[in-house]
Amino acid sequence: MSTFTDLLTYCNQNNTTLVAVSKTKPMEAITELYNEGQRIFGENRVPELVEKYNALPKDIKWHMIGHLQTNKVKNIAPFVQLIHSGDRISLLKEVNKAAKKNDRIIDILLQLKIAKEETKSGWDKNELYAMLTDGILDQYENLNIRGVMGMATFTDNQTQIEEEFAALKTAFDKMKLETFPTKKDFDVISMGMSGDYKIAIQEGSTMIRVGSLLFGAR
Ligand SMILES: *Cc1c(COP(=O)(O)O)cnc(C)c1O
Repeated sequence: MSTFTDLLTYCNQNNTTLVAVSKTKPMEAITELYNEGQRIFGENRVPELVEKYNALPKDIKWHMIGHLQTNKVKNIAPFVQLIHSGDRISLLKEVNKAAKKNDRIIDILLQLKIAKEETKSGWDKNELYAMLTDGILDQYENLNIRGVMGMATFTDNQTQIEEEFAALKTAFDKMKLETFPTKKDFDVISMGMSGDYKIAIQEGSTMIRVGSLLFGAR
């Protein structure tokens, strides 16, 4: 059995969606996994995402997982299936605008800063709750908020990773209860990468983003 098949089986057993993170990898590597049945791929740079979208089969569901500049939103708005990195109001506003232009509703996750590392971006959870209470999202009719995304600290400390993922799950549960109580498709907790996906799933992940384990080191 291939790594891919093993990982997919593991995901299916745990009701978790697998995003194959293909950033920096060539078209052939994507095609290989596509031929094994994978349809969801994640990229973190807009030009590379657009190039791959244009070249590869149109039934691939492309996820934008990396930091997204507002001036590049228009390039992916016609086709992107899920944006994981909704980390600030100016971006949500821009995605809404571009979605409207393309006559689409775009699915997006709110990225929370759960790691202690300074390098990881995302909402501070209190600022996020304040924004949600504000009702500011109500004006973004072409956005569909599907859930949350977070990245744990890059560390060997398993307990710390557990705590960070647990904090994301807690934030999701609070938002589900207080902000989206009747929204059936507020159902995505995107957490877990090659090094920590098992912990993430144990802590309630519904979507993992795995690159190097599938495609080899970058
Ligand atoms: C690169 C990347 C991943 C995948 O990382 P691996 O360790 O290669 O599995 C997941 N999420 C984000 C946001 C990334 O940028």
